[in-house]
Amino acid sequence: MNCYNHPEKASVATCIDCGKGLCKECASLYALPICNQCNTARVKNDKNVIMQKYIPSIIGAVVGLVFTYFITKDITQSVFSTIGEAIIMAYLFAGIPWGWYVISFITPKMFLFMSWFGWGMYFIIKFSLSSFVGIVAMPIGLINLFMKQNDANKKEQNILNNQ
Ligand SMILES: [Zn+2]
Ligand SMILES: [Zn+2]
Repeated sequence: MNCYNHPEKASVATCIDCGKGLCKECASLYALPICNQCNTARVKNDKNVIMQKYIPSIIGAVVGLVFTYFITKDITQSVFSTIGEAIIMAYLFAGIPWGWYVISFITPKMFLFMSWFGWGMYFIIKFSLSSFVGIVAMPIGLINLFMKQNDANKKEQNILNNQ
């Protein structure tokens, strides 16, 4: 079998995703022996997964803003204090999914056989704790996501340079 990209060269490896032949040069372009098309598909998939992880925070922020709207209907409040509250509420609510994730990660699965009341209490406690944990967990999680996104963009650029 010859290289898919250089038909005159013999292949030394095959693409781990599609099995096309890769010459020595093409096989050493990336950490894994993979063709440009398959690597592009992988990076696109990674980017989609990253984008999806922003969605719960965006929904949380919107819920926070709607919540602020309902609790600040009092027109005696100044516009500035309302904006301040809106920012705080959007931040707190956007952090809840991150806090929830952290708490789920550290709590062992020992509450599987609780009553409905137990489940209700568990949910309420977990939800309240999530809003506190999220204050710290969200910025860390978002920085992590930005770095992963940056990494995926660099990989994408690298593939374009190799084409
Ligand atoms: Zn391939
Ligand atoms: Zn080649």
